[in-house]
Amino acid sequence: MKVNMRQMKLLAPAKVNLFLNVVGKRPDGYHDLLSLMSCVSLYDVLTVTFGPPYSSVVCSHKDVPEDDTNLAAKAAALFLRRLGKKVHLKIKIDKSIPVAAGLGGGSSDAAAMLTGMNSNLNFPFSKSQLMSMAEELGADVPFFIISKPCIAQGIGYKLKVCNNLDPMSVVLVNPGFEVSTAEVYRKFKLSLTKCKKVYNLSTFADREFNVLEDLCNDLETVTINDFPEIETVKEELLKQGAAGALMSGSGPTVFGLFFKRAEAKKAFNELSKKEGWKTYLAELLV
Ligand code: ATP
Repeated sequence: MKVNMRQMKLLAPAKVNLFLNVVGKRPDGYHDLLSLMSCVSLYDVLTVTFGPPYSSVVCSHKDVPEDDTNLAAKAAALFLRRLGKKVHLKIKIDKSIPVAAGLGGGSSDAAAMLTGMNSNLNFPFSKSQLMSMAEELGADVPFFIISKPCIAQGIGYKLKVCNNLDPMSVVLVNPGFEVSTAEVYRKFKLSLTKCKKVYNLSTFADREFNVLEDLCNDLETVTINDFPEIETVKEELLKQGAAGALMSGSGPTVFGLFFKRAEAKKAFNELSKKEGWKTYLAELLV
């Protein structure tokens, strides 16, 4: 039998949360959020081969599973199940996005698989069918399907594109340890929220986001309590000229925002010298 070994390469960007307000706790245990997210130009690269004799996943990062629990493999399996097709895939993931770091790497890999498979197989699914598969895979996956700055409400499925973000350069600093998102939410108390209460989607989407005033993450207090080094990273970014600095998601990665690329580059060069910290220079994908 002739096997068609087609290959596709996919780029999966990281995200940062510019604003993350925990609005409440739901009866099912999940938290309702209001969050402004943007992709940044730091990418995992997925190479997918169609039609090898058996399916496999390989990843360059030791903490990412190389079996059917990998989020990219899960996305591919769901896509093929919905399509009613049996095809073996070899998925190779070159990880640049730090893992369990608040940057949504796994969700982005899953979204890249869904959109990549869809375009490679000649668009068998509509955007809304892809979004419904994305919801099944995890809270941040629908955002990565849209892949534009968005206000996310609820557990992350209700999304509104935010067109009024200014382009900015970003320096990301990962202090070199992993944080469990589930654990951070378990320790979170609503009394700890400190972000401005902008309760609804439309009022937030219609105003300009102000980096100096609005940058806020309700989860910072929890993660910093366990890992005070995050505060040091924030201070260092500000010392290096960032207009604002914030932990992304449940952490521990911290990002600094810069109006000028040259200033960001300078800060990146300085912070890259710190032992144990992994530093990245990127742009907001607005
Ligand atoms: P979240 O807040 O959604 O947990 P995160 O950025 O903090 O996102 P990820 O890097 O997505 O965390 O990893 C979360 C967990 O998912 C890790 O423990 C990892 O083992 C698992 N995982 C499964 N598939 C992947 C993948 N393709 N890339 C990264 N992690 C994956």
